[in-house]
Amino acid sequence: MKAHDAMYIDGAWRPAAGTDTIAVVNPADEQVIATVPAGTPADVDAAVRAARAAFPGWAATAPAERAARLTALRDALAARREEIAETVTAELGSPLAFSQAVHADVPIAVAGSYATILATHAFEEKVGNSTVHHEPVGVVGAITPWNYPLHQIVAKVAPALAAGCTVVLKPAEDTPLVAQLFAEAIDEAGFPAGTFNLVTGLGLVAGQALAEHADVDLVSFTGSTAVGSRIAATAGAAVKRVALELGGKSANVILPSADLARAVNVGVANVMSNSGQTCSAWTRMLVHRDQYDQAVALATAAAAKYVAGGRIGPLVNAKQQARVRGYIEQGVEEGARLVAGGPEAPLDKGYYVAATVFADVTPDMTIAQEEIFGPVLSILPYEDEADALRIANGTVYGLAGAVWAGDQDEAVAFARRMDTGQVDINGGRFNPLAPFGGYKQSGFGRELGAHGLAEYLHTKSLQF
Ligand code: NAP
Ligand code: MG
Repeated sequence: MKAHDAMYIDGAWRPAAGTDTIAVVNPADEQVIATVPAGTPADVDAAVRAARAAFPGWAATAPAERAARLTALRDALAARREEIAETVTAELGSPLAFSQAVHADVPIAVAGSYATILATHAFEEKVGNSTVHHEPVGVVGAITPWNYPLHQIVAKVAPALAAGCTVVLKPAEDTPLVAQLFAEAIDEAGFPAGTFNLVTGLGLVAGQALAEHADVDLVSFTGSTAVGSRIAATAGAAVKRVALELGGKSANVILPSADLARAVNVGVANVMSNSGQTCSAWTRMLVHRDQYDQAVALATAAAAKYVAGGRIGPLVNAKQQARVRGYIEQGVEEGARLVAGGPEAPLDKGYYVAATVFADVTPDMTIAQEEIFGPVLSILPYEDEADALRIANGTVYGLAGAVWAGDQDEAVAFARRMDTGQVDINGGRFNPLAPFGGYKQSGFGRELGAHGLAEYLHTKSLQF
């Protein structure tokens, strides 16, 4: 893997201020594939200065000019589709076909969506005797995780640049290579120097320096609730804007009238894809008591197709592997019934965890409450619709979910009562234009589409 031995700051690859590096490991074979510089507060400061200097010029460009640069970015990413997929497979471990179809194609589509949105977005509106201008917020500090490494970068950087903001990105330490590829694509797309800057590094050093920097106007963070809550406290004390995309424990509610086999099979695939490292994964399957045994049998059979090293990749690192195996052990200790997988590592090498399914899970169990972030599904029985709703809404999270029913209106009525930001009805497809974000401790703020753009704008009202 090719890696830059530098930071991308002010339109060029520049040597880091310090000499520390981060080793990038392939989680499938535990081999070091590259090293990248570990940024220091001095690097973050240089990047924020560059973003600040570039802001007035970029904020003043016409939306059509920004749209042209975003189209060029989409094209530059599309030209690197295979390189992106291979890079994500190498540093995250996901199967190549998944890297192509999801880790590469989704961010390419999202980058393009902002060029399209800019063509019609109204940055000015009339309200009575006022004209309301929607103006860019300023310098954005973006901190991203490793699970959908390019998607999470593009979901912040594309709308921020579309709004007229400038950006400093601190990507996850586990997946810095695709972030470097992204910086190359930005460079090719002809964005002015300083509009986008990349500082690779550790969360506690570079990430914290970015979140605390006095000259950052908005911090957008995706990752754990623990770190997000700290970032929100820091941003709150400084009275700066913050957007948080945090964890989830989403419910897949299968109502008695649903096509049970389809709902269970899609539900298992949803949890196992990306090795369960998906914040919006439907990790709790809720099934009516009368259909419970049948659903468990279907899920057990479906999980057997997810063979480690084949359809299911490793977890990102040894720490996540140990964490997920610990949760599986805890599920067994708390009395849940293991029907597929288990805590033993399925392969000698690589950070793999077996596709795991628990039956007889009760809502109070740890595995029914905490985000595991691995290929682990919990199946919970419910007595009636009211019970299903109580269970579905009974966690601190509210990011996503699914409802299945024979009748679409029945599913919609249930979905409207769920405390969550997104619900897929009878297997509805991912929509890159729909707002994505959480209720409760899953965070606040929305990404994607026009709602994602609005996060990076504030209003100024002129009265006449
Ligand atoms: P994390 O620590 O929250 O990491 C997310 C990002 O924040 C990374 O870029 C990280 O840098 C950075 N960071 C860490 N500490 C920071 C700090 N004090 N100030 C500023 N930035 C900081 O998440 P993780 O450790 O990778 O994963 C732990 C758990 O978080 C997972 O098991 C999962 O439950 C959850 N998670 C959720 C999502 C999601 O999409 N909502 C994504 C990933 C993880 P480093 O890379 O150097 O740590
Ligand atoms: Mg971390």
